[in-house]
Formats: sequence, structure tokens, C-alpha cells
Amino acid sequence: MAMARRRYCRHCRQPLRVTMRVDALYCGPACRAAARRSSIYWMKVIAVDLAAARGLQDRIGRHCPVCGRWFVPGVGVRRDAVYDTPACRTAAWRARRASSPRQPLREAVTESAAVTDAGTPARG
Ligand SMILES: [Zn+2]
Ligand SMILES: [Zn+2]
Repeated sequence: MAMARRRYCRHCRQPLRVTMRVDALYCGPACRAAARRSSIYWMKVIAVDLAAARGLQDRIGRHCPVCGRWFVPGVGVRRDAVYDTPACRTAAWRARRASSPRQPLREAVTESAAVTDAGTPARG
């Protein structure tokens, strides 16, 4: 069959332009990048499942100190994340603030005041 097959973007399912390369899979760089991101995401999800099945959770993941839920940094959250959700991060931050009220703030103020005193000439 010599008839040209109509091709579709693998990501957004829109028809590809006829001017696109024969081996093009996506309608543009944006879709290619998005597809790549999501495939990396699913590869990580599968890796996480495998690790969990083998009892390797502690090697690749960590427990959220707030809710205790096990999660894997880099999958759905930042790689250096300590908490599994922004809500948990906020809760931890509030708890820290409540246990030592205003202390970080006062430190910062004292430090900047010292810098100002040293660097600013005394006014008559
Ligand atoms: Zn597309
Ligand atoms: Zn949590």
C-alpha cells in the first residue's frame, strides 16, 4: 500500500504536519519534552514499585517526619524534599515556629543591625 499513513503526535494526539520528518513522533519540541518528562516519571514509578517489592524502600525513599508516609524524593516531589507534601512541610514549619517563637527572626534582626552599625558612619 503506497497510501501515506496519517500520523499523530504521540503526546497530544494532534495530526502531525505533512512537512514533518518521516520518523517524527511528536508535533513539536514541547510535546517531545512533555512526553520525555512523563516517561521518566513512569520509569521512576516502576522502579519505586520494584524496590518496594524487594524490600528496598529505605534505600530509595524516606519517611515524611510529619505524617510518616513513605515517599521517594524525585518522584512527584523535589529530589531534596524532606516532606512528602507541601502541607506537611508547612505543618513542620509551623511546629518549629511554635516551639521556638520568634527566635530565628530575632537572630536575623540582630545580625543585620550589627552589619548596619559597623558599615554606617555615625550620624552627628
Ligand atoms: Zn503534540
Ligand atoms: Zn507527610
